[in-house]
Amino acid sequence: MGAVARKQLPLRPSGPDTVAQLLDWYDSEHRDLPWRVKPRTRGRSLRADPYRVWLSEIMLQQTTVKAVIPYFERFVHIWPTVEALAAAHLDEVLAAWAGLGYYSRARNLHACAKTVVEVHGGVFPRAEDELRTLPGIGPYTAAAIAAIAFGEKATPVDGNVERVTARLFAVRQPLPGAKKELKRLAATLTPARRPGDFAQAMMDLGATICTPRRPSCLMCPLQSDCHANARGIAAELPAKAARAERPTRYGVAFLALREDGRVLLRRRVEAGLLGGMLEVPSTPWVDQWMAADDALAAAPIDSDWWMVPGSVVHVFTHFRLELMVYRAIVPESAELTFWAEPERCQWLQRRDLDRAALPSLMKKVIQHALKPS
Ligand code: SF4
Repeated sequence: MGAVARKQLPLRPSGPDTVAQLLDWYDSEHRDLPWRVKPRTRGRSLRADPYRVWLSEIMLQQTTVKAVIPYFERFVHIWPTVEALAAAHLDEVLAAWAGLGYYSRARNLHACAKTVVEVHGGVFPRAEDELRTLPGIGPYTAAAIAAIAFGEKATPVDGNVERVTARLFAVRQPLPGAKKELKRLAATLTPARRPGDFAQAMMDLGATICTPRRPSCLMCPLQSDCHANARGIAAELPAKAARAERPTRYGVAFLALREDGRVLLRRRVEAGLLGGMLEVPSTPWVDQWMAADDALAAAPIDSDWWMVPGSVVHVFTHFRLELMVYRAIVPESAELTFWAEPERCQWLQRRDLDRAALPSLMKKVIQHALKPS
């Protein structure tokens, strides 16, 4: 019996055809997002505003589109231009950012706005390498701004684009080792015409059709070019190297409530995790629970501390944090201990907590501490 004839695919997705199919699909199926310009309006010389593209790309790092939209809309309402954002106080920016996580991005966002205004006269540079000199703009964001806002031939490669590329080319090498190769392959597809739409089309395809677990290959405009689909291995790609287990750290937080209704908060140092944000003073976060006496010795005020039952758990990218929380009501005359680092502390009215630059973790700690006993 003769061998069953199998469909022969070219060795690689055939650049121009793949691009044309994807752009056609994007013209009709693109996601409407508040920072975008509709593809068909481009012919009428409407380009995406670099400020909005930059802002959205910074917000979208490590976060979902759904989570970002309300933040993006609030930011452009309060600060409609890069000049307005540059003139804002850093604390206002951090407070508006609270809840989006990775607060160093908010500090860099503000620093970048100032640099664009002070060094570049309020105009974002258009070349990828110049964009990369700005605070908080890495290779991905520079390529995204260059392609989407300026029509430069650049290839932003995020998780969606990595996944689509790994599947299109059936790359079996696991991530993160395969990153460089995936970037190279994605760049081979990037067209000189409409590179920004192409980049956004790859992102949209990854977000809506070529999804991580169950790609909808039957609905995909690139099905006939896709090597992973032809080999039946789409859902297995991209392969990922085994990840080390996330360690847990432990600490004790102290919520001091003053008799006049104010709460003691401390500003974290600028460098590092949650840098520059306000926090409920706590012990260092260490590998195991501290003995109660050791923890209480690090309290910010000498007082009768009461342990709130339960604990607060928060998961960061590289570790899981579990905090016990102590609470005390203290007089207005209460003095801060050496451990509180008084120069970084402030007493904030409870009614102002909502507007303060508090990360989600600290909001959880306060909620936990103030729950009725
Ligand atoms: Fe992804 Fe399937 Fe399309 Fe290939 S055919 S790009 S695996 S959705």
